[in-house]
Order: sequence, then structure tokens, then C-alpha cells
Amino acid sequence: MSKIFNSEQQDLIGRAKKFSKPFRIDDGEKFHLKQVDPGNTLEFGKEHKSQAKEALDMGVELLAQFQDLLYAQDRWALLLIFQAMDAAGKDGTIKHVMSGVNPQGCQVSSFKAPSAVDLDHDYLWRSNVMLPERGRIGIFNRSYYEETLVVRVHPEMLARQTLPKALLGKDIWKDRFRDIRNYERYLTNNGIVIRKFFLHVSKEEQKKRFLQRLETPDKNWKFSANDIRERAYWDDYMKAYEDTIRHTATERAPWYVVPADNKWFTRVVVAAAVVEALDSLGLHYPEVSDAARQDLDKARADLLNE
Ligand code: ATP
Ligand code: MG
Repeated sequence: MSKIFNSEQQDLIGRAKKFSKPFRIDDGEKFHLKQVDPGNTLEFGKEHKSQAKEALDMGVELLAQFQDLLYAQDRWALLLIFQAMDAAGKDGTIKHVMSGVNPQGCQVSSFKAPSAVDLDHDYLWRSNVMLPERGRIGIFNRSYYEETLVVRVHPEMLARQTLPKALLGKDIWKDRFRDIRNYERYLTNNGIVIRKFFLHVSKEEQKKRFLQRLETPDKNWKFSANDIRERAYWDDYMKAYEDTIRHTATERAPWYVVPADNKWFTRVVVAAAVVEALDSLGLHYPEVSDAARQDLDKARADLLNE
């Protein structure tokens, strides 16, 4: 490790936990959404914003180096799942946190309402093909978790899935939670490390951001009338998020419930959690065997003697 990261970076890796751990849920049963205040910034006030930005810049650089290691080693993959209410800052967080990484090692997939072809398959089908390859970071901007969130809030969406009637019993959500837990277990058994983020914005802050979108011409495009319609279901969504996290937060595939009323803080927490996840893998550059070393020496000598 010491050869890969300088002392400042090692210090940052050490500090990452401080930001991510308070928001990590790896034992869902004990979780209640009210435990997390969307406005929480730990002991950091607005006066720490510029320091936070500096730390984030360093974190972004660090992530780039970790990603290089991940890619070189070509064994693990990292899947980052982002879920949130509208205007919680998913897009901006993804953009900032991943801004330093090599585009070749990173794939972002945005999951929208399922197409007719999607609906003709089981709901994990479209996610499966977007999973990150070994050595890569895959980002799901929304995910199969919509299946226990928006689909639960709007039962007519479930009807559209044309499932056999016998499978639409009262246990359907319990079954989906179990299937998702098992699926994630399967993925982790195959070297795909999973971290899930719920960017938890308050209803008041969402209103402020919607108004900004409506009142700033350059932000108008971000607004959709549907966002207001979904806002009316706020309490149902919160219940669905809580239940989903309670049933799917595990040691192997933890959720981070990230306070999202302050964008600068959201980004620091997400970056810290990603750093921590990559650090936990003990990555190193592949070692060159003696035989390969001799080949390299010979190649070098050949080039010099040309
Ligand atoms: P933005 O932040 O830019 O608005 P977005 O992720 O909200 O991005 P939209 O195109 O506005 O993207 O919305 C995508 C919509 O697709 C969401 O309302 C989401 O609930 C819906 N969706 C995603 N997956 C599913 C699914 N499996 N079933 C039903 N709806 C889904
Ligand atoms: Mg939207």
C-alpha cells in the first residue's frame, strides 16, 4: 500500500470511515428512516464547505488511483446503486464523485420506466446485462430497487407486468426482498462488490429545488410535471424506502442512507463510502513473475539494440 498512496492519501483513506460509517446500514432489521436527518452534516457547518470541497477533490483523485488498481488487477468489480426521490442530487453526485475516473473503467446505466421488451422478461433481466465487468465500476442510476419502490407505490405498474395471477399474492414484496437479497449474495459470490446509496432529501428541500428549476431558465429542462405528481405520494415513498432498506441491507450489500439536503456533504459521504469499499479489497498491481521479468528484460535489451 505504502508504495501506491502518499501519506496525505493514506491519511484521507483513514478518515473516510468517519464520514461513511454513521450512515451505513448493514443490519436492516434495526433500521428506521427517522434515524437519519436529511440535513445532517455531522459536526461540519457551512463554514467547512470549502474544506469539504478540498477533501472531495483529493478523494476524487484517490478514486482514480483505486480504479486504476481495480482495472489492473481485473478480478473484482464494483457496483454502485443510487436511489432517491427527484431532485435529491443523484446525477450531480455521480458526476462529481466519478469525475476523475477513467471513462474506460466505468459504466453508468440509467434505468427508466421499463419498455415493452423489458416487461416481457423477469425484472432483473435488464439489470443483468448492465452489470460491470471485472475490473470495472458500474453505476446504476436507479435500479431493480424501483421494483419495490415506485412499483409498490403505484400498484397499476405491477398490473402492467402481466405476471401470472397466482404469483400476485400478499407475499409478493417479501418474495421480492428475498429474491433481491439472494441475487446480491450471488453477485458478491462472483466478485461483484455492491454498495447502495439512498440520497435522503427532505420534502422541504425538494420543494426549494423544484422551485429553483422552475425559476431558473437554464434549469427548466430538469423539471417534469411528473415530479410534482410523485411528490404527492411522498409518505408512501418514504414507507417503501424504509421497508426496502430494512429488508435488503446486509453486511455484504449495505445501504448508505445519505443526508441529501446539503449537496457538498452528500458528495463527501458517497466518495468516502466508495473509497472505503475499494480500500477493503486490498488491491495491488499484479506482480510480474520471474519468467515474465526475464521476458521484459529481453524486450528492453532488444529495443535498445535495434
Ligand atoms: P432525473 O433526475 O434527471 O429526473 P430520473 O432518474 O428521475 O432522472 P426520469 O426519466 O425523470 O429519470 O425518470 C425515470 C422514471 O422511471 C422514474 O420515475 C422511475 O420511477 C421510473 N422507473 C425506473 N425503473 C422503473 C421500474 N422498474 N418500473 C417502473 N418505473 C420505473
Ligand atoms: Mg426524474
